[in-house]
Amino acid sequence: MPNKYFYINTIGCQMNVYDSEQIAARLVGLGYQQTGVLEVADLVIVNTCTIRAKAEQKAFSFLGRLANLKIKNPGLIIGVGGCVAQQEGEKILRRVPHIDLVFGTQAIDRLSLLIPKIESKRCRVVDVGLTEKPVRPAARPDRRPDGLVSTFVTIMRGCDNFCTYCVVPHVRGREVSRHPDRIMEEIRGLVQSGVKEVTLLGQNVNSYGKKEGLCSFPELLARVNSIEGLQRIRFTTSHPKDFGSSLIDALKTNEKVCDHIHLPVQSGSDRILNRMNRKYTRELYLDKIAELKDTCPGIAITSDFIVGFPGETEADFNETLGLMEIVKFDGLFAFVYSDRPNAPAVQFKNKISEAVKKKRLQTLLELQENFTRMKNQALVGCVQPILVEGTSKKQFSGSINHPQSAVQWTGRTSTNKIVNFYHNDNPQSGADIFSGKIVLTKIEKAYAHSLWGKPVEVKSATGGRKGEESYAA
Ligand code: SF4
Repeated sequence: MPNKYFYINTIGCQMNVYDSEQIAARLVGLGYQQTGVLEVADLVIVNTCTIRAKAEQKAFSFLGRLANLKIKNPGLIIGVGGCVAQQEGEKILRRVPHIDLVFGTQAIDRLSLLIPKIESKRCRVVDVGLTEKPVRPAARPDRRPDGLVSTFVTIMRGCDNFCTYCVVPHVRGREVSRHPDRIMEEIRGLVQSGVKEVTLLGQNVNSYGKKEGLCSFPELLARVNSIEGLQRIRFTTSHPKDFGSSLIDALKTNEKVCDHIHLPVQSGSDRILNRMNRKYTRELYLDKIAELKDTCPGIAITSDFIVGFPGETEADFNETLGLMEIVKFDGLFAFVYSDRPNAPAVQFKNKISEAVKKKRLQTLLELQENFTRMKNQALVGCVQPILVEGTSKKQFSGSINHPQSAVQWTGRTSTNKIVNFYHNDNPQSGADIFSGKIVLTKIEKAYAHSLWGKPVEVKSATGGRKGEESYAA
């Protein structure tokens, strides 16, 4: 039995979650066992994100709190990985004196050498070598997720786009795709272990395979669609400049590909899109949305926005609001612009004040809330097929309609909307009667961020088209 424990704090995107799995596999190989209790760990890894200033602050604040643990346990090894580590390198050792290891985004494979070195020599180590040559993403370690219904599969990593506000190409390197055969093997393995839904992950999935001359992304979707036992396929992120008719057709023809697309637009102003180096115009984006809605009616569309990009005028911001009025997104992620080291926009003049950025963000979010509520409200009365992910973290203490023994379950529609429902089953019994099943659920209430429903029928594993026709109740 291992008697050494590691704890990982993962900050940031799904790519980091995936990397943390890789890190965990290396540590298990070194005889460590994962723990969720920070205080018992012999090794703590913080997998950091630098996409926004807030994420970086979060990492340093957590690292600061580890000082006391190190005083109590001087043998504790503390490592920092991910994008902040890649970006800051040795500077982190100076800033946080109780850190033992700084390892970059391409150094995960070398952890098997770095950790024993620290264990034996009690030295401080920095490994942030980043090659210009693309580094192929590793296969998922053979640690099958226990009871997971839905999981992520990396199909590519890195980015060649160089948006002027973004550090990803600088900290994760150039874009490179995994071979489709390796991706298929991984997904088949996941399905065998009970996974029903995969989200194919990359910084720009639309350019999958192009550089290497592998199959195209729509072709990859068709191959994954053929995997028996897999119920649903999602993917993220799509770049509008590479989003074309063949992918729109793939969304329509592959029955397991969900009715949802996340297509970050960032701004509705051509002037700002140009300054961001996004390589598409407002008109092109809207044309693609129109084609998408035409070919796939009912598809949910979500997006990302940055407000207060350097030089953004009120007129530019109004163009963004205007684009939102046209598209009526199902949901969005919006952020205020913040300078990131190494990103070209740091040098841009006409920075927007914090007060203006905050006000614009609030205006944008208020507008979106109307659209989200409207879209959710439209589903009330319909029966939606939900892929149930498990019991909800938030359990309910009982009421006249729902006794204390009722269990709250949670899942998603094909359009990626969260639906919660109750079922009269004793939570103590441990009986997992819904996880991984498609449950036809009548939507009874719409909230700002979720829906509430009543289960009508549990579908067989194979389900109908997309496993989830919408039934008029
Ligand atoms: S497409 Fe742009 S925003 Fe996305 S990762 Fe690449 S550089 Fe960053």
